[in-house]
Amino acid sequence: MAFLDQHPELGYPVVAGLGLLVGSFLNVVILRLPRRLEWEWKRDAREVLEEPEIYDPPPPGIVVERSHCPHCKTPLSWYENIPLFSWLALRGKCRHCKAPISAQYPLVELLTALLAVASVWRFGFGWQGFGAALFSCYLVALSGIDLRTRLLPDQLTLPLMWLGLIGSLDNLYMPAKPALLGAIAGYVSLWLVWWLFKQVTGKEGMGRGDFKLLAAIGAWVGLNGVLPTILLSSVVGAVVGSVWLGLKGRDRATPIPFGPYLAIAGWIAFFWGPQIIDAYLRFAGLK
Ligand SMILES: [Zn+2]
Repeated sequence: MAFLDQHPELGYPVVAGLGLLVGSFLNVVILRLPRRLEWEWKRDAREVLEEPEIYDPPPPGIVVERSHCPHCKTPLSWYENIPLFSWLALRGKCRHCKAPISAQYPLVELLTALLAVASVWRFGFGWQGFGAALFSCYLVALSGIDLRTRLLPDQLTLPLMWLGLIGSLDNLYMPAKPALLGAIAGYVSLWLVWWLFKQVTGKEGMGRGDFKLLAAIGAWVGLNGVLPTILLSSVVGAVVGSVWLGLKGRDRATPIPFGPYLAIAGWIAFFWGPQIIDAYLRFAGLK
């Protein structure tokens, strides 16, 4: 770590390469975790309802099983598993059946590599940089899953919150108290919005996973970062929403889940929250 810190010209490419590899793992998580969860929920539901057991083969595991073309099921060879470059070399098509391969794969890999480089650029080649990269990876996986399935699995939001709190025990980014208060404030603020919306309209305006995601982000940005995260998420939502509307037209404008907005806002607040607050206070003439 110290060596890479002194030789960033080597450090950044190494981190970018690792980011591509981790990104290709995140692609697998995004695709397989929701399927796995759905399979488990169905199995548990049958048990609760005392329905007879049926043969329902489990979907592929996340770590062990090899990747294959989703269309023709041909297993991928080692060089087709190289992140980003294989997709470019194959021009986004399966080598066997020529079925198009989703652009999600190279995009997630590229995004993860960029966020990992940004993490060590902002926080250095140490535990802080590693933590920031880990935080970024969780947000990529959660955003991808929310976009595809409208789920924010507890299996990701809860460990992300615990990791933030555990890091704060050692004062990684802040002491434990603001981290814990950030997690509480994150959960309670969105729960309040959800509860008020339900009282007024009788509908549930957002998923409970959103509270847990903001609790997790709160553990990383701290109490002072929660309000900026909420404000930024509505700015991000407005920008993305109007771009989406412009691209797809009003009738094709399907509402985008809230999770990715929270994730983008939380990421910005974590990386540049204090600077943004400072700039705002100066702009408003309060400092
Ligand atoms: Zn194929």
